[in-house]
Amino acid sequence: MNEVEQIKKLRDQLNKYSYEYYVLDKPTVLDSVYDALFAQLKKLEEKYPEYISVDSPTQRVGGQALDSFKKVEHRTRMVSLNDIFEDTEINKWIQRISKLEPASETSDFWGDIKMDGLACSLIYEDGILKKAVTRGDGLIGEDVTANCKTVKSIPLKLMGDDFFSNGRTEVRGEIVMYKKDFKELNSYLSSKEESTYANPRNLAAGTIRQLDPVIAASRKLYFRAYDLLRNDTAEIVTQEAAYSDLRRLGFLVNLDATKLKNVEEIKKFIEKWRERRHELPFNTDGIVFKINNRNLYERLGIVGKNPRGAIAFKFPAEQSTTKLIDIFISIGRTGAATPVAVLEPVVIAGSTVQMATLHNEDEIEKKDLRIGDTVIIQKAGDIIPEVVEAITSLRNGSEKAFIMPVRCPDCHSKLLRPEKEAVWRCVNNNCPTRTWRHIEHFASKQALDIDGLGEKNVIALLDSGLINDAADLYSLNEDQLVTLDRFAELSAKNLVMAIREKMNPQLSKFIFALGIRHVGTQTAVDLANHFRNLEVILSASSDSLSAVDGIGAVVAESITAWASEQSNRELINKFYKNGVVIQDVKKPIKGNLSGKSFVITGSLESMGREAAADKIRERGGTFQGAVGKNTTYLIAGEAVGESKQKKADKFGTEVIDEKTFLKLLDS
Ligand code: NAD
Repeated sequence: MNEVEQIKKLRDQLNKYSYEYYVLDKPTVLDSVYDALFAQLKKLEEKYPEYISVDSPTQRVGGQALDSFKKVEHRTRMVSLNDIFEDTEINKWIQRISKLEPASETSDFWGDIKMDGLACSLIYEDGILKKAVTRGDGLIGEDVTANCKTVKSIPLKLMGDDFFSNGRTEVRGEIVMYKKDFKELNSYLSSKEESTYANPRNLAAGTIRQLDPVIAASRKLYFRAYDLLRNDTAEIVTQEAAYSDLRRLGFLVNLDATKLKNVEEIKKFIEKWRERRHELPFNTDGIVFKINNRNLYERLGIVGKNPRGAIAFKFPAEQSTTKLIDIFISIGRTGAATPVAVLEPVVIAGSTVQMATLHNEDEIEKKDLRIGDTVIIQKAGDIIPEVVEAITSLRNGSEKAFIMPVRCPDCHSKLLRPEKEAVWRCVNNNCPTRTWRHIEHFASKQALDIDGLGEKNVIALLDSGLINDAADLYSLNEDQLVTLDRFAELSAKNLVMAIREKMNPQLSKFIFALGIRHVGTQTAVDLANHFRNLEVILSASSDSLSAVDGIGAVVAESITAWASEQSNRELINKFYKNGVVIQDVKKPIKGNLSGKSFVITGSLESMGREAAADKIRERGGTFQGAVGKNTTYLIAGEAVGESKQKKADKFGTEVIDEKTFLKLLDS
């Protein structure tokens, strides 16, 4: 697309998001999505400054006063802040402002948590609260005095009786709702079948920007101050002094706000809160840094809508936007032909994402994804990246629809889509991609955990003809391996040793390693605990398989179909012939979690999903992928999945947090 045209499209789209966010208090995308598009627009505007228009979101503070409220002009503009996303940009910020005011280089800084709420200004005359005004567009806000008077942490009269009791005092801060109160209120609203709010910020804003103070009084809101203004600016010399005055005057301030001497201390502050921000009672999306000396801060001035002397560091987001460059087909070990999105690299939740599975053809159609689209990408903690949706308003007509190929891109056999299934499959058992994927799976961490058998080595072994399947791994020797370019004496020795170490695999690990469709790690554990011996499993009927707790008809059918295939029986016999002896299960594990089953939603801070699953199983518990009627606990980590939460409500499953889970492990 022509870049100038793109500026207009981005501007319109961002203004639409802003309207939904600031005016309606009902955002339709996450802030990080807005931020990513905003950054894209800013970059383009830097390239084409002549196309910056007055209505560009880069030129104005977001909100706009509602007609239902009296409008109030701010005496001093309420600003927005420049965002940065990497701590390396701190140095650049200081360099930039030092050029204008050399004192910036050796100045102290003031760091505070950036609260995600509604910015508000309180005006006191002779110590008495006269007016409360929203930020609005930074110049004109809404008179929300009646509602703010119901917020208990807003003093109606300033404490102390020094010069603040005389003249005009303005206090700025953020009205927030605490996370726990938000959860409580939202579930109450949902139980009354009333519409719920997207996040605490919108609930806080929605409460202050409605006309009934009785409703405002019924909701738990807090005002947390971050700025103090007097007519005579010389009365408060540093941000530090402002915070201590604010406390003395009876305001709630973040006690974690602190003076920072240099870039190193700023970076340490970021690191500390990167870890600990989830412990805060309110939502935060970053940290604000300001020049501590207020005189210097004033001298640095404002550029556009942002003060030069302050900056907001934003924590890594779990959603962002990027371009869908292409879609290719990836063949899995079971033959599933999965469309995969190739993306313009984008950093989400701290790591770079370049690819994301699109699951199947129907999913692409449902989401109406086209090659060339700007898309919203999501990644939370351990969870694999996902394409959420396309921003269709940014299309320019050059986007292309995806057409599912009819043949396997590797062995060229026809892809089949069994009735009632969403996935196309390559059904050629000898498809080279399926073979190497299976061997890679066999050696993977969750299966037999054989080091040194990544994709490239497996393909080299297959190409050389040294192996044809996973069982052949057990007949490899060092002399054969060193004939290949990829192996030297030591790496050959290490690989042979790593394979030999797995001559007596655990039954559950071996079953999982076979890569039977629908048999995941927990099903493999259930099968092993119930039947205790591989041959017993492979000769079991569908009925006796589905009689096992946690195994349904589809899984049972898949196992019997696998076991009845001649080539699979031959594979098992080859394992035996090559000396593999699979350990029978003597006694199913009994432990402090026996009889209890767990599901995780969101990501845990202390460990990954698989590590958690192992710990549960080691203690006799069951780890499940989805909440069902026999799930004992749903462990809710960060970025909780809504569908799991809903199912937990439906089945009455107890929802526990990570701390409680860790206690249960040690109980
Ligand atoms: P900003 O990110 O520029 O930050 C400035 C504000 O931070 C200040 O006005 C102040 O009220 C607040 N703040 C919180 N804690 C503070 C502290 N300790 N010290 C100083 N200030 C503090 O805010 P903005 O101008 O409202 O920027 C736009 C924000 O709104 C972005 O985060 C954007 O993602 C979001 N937004 C989202 C959508 C959407 O559709 N989801 C639409 C528009 C804007």
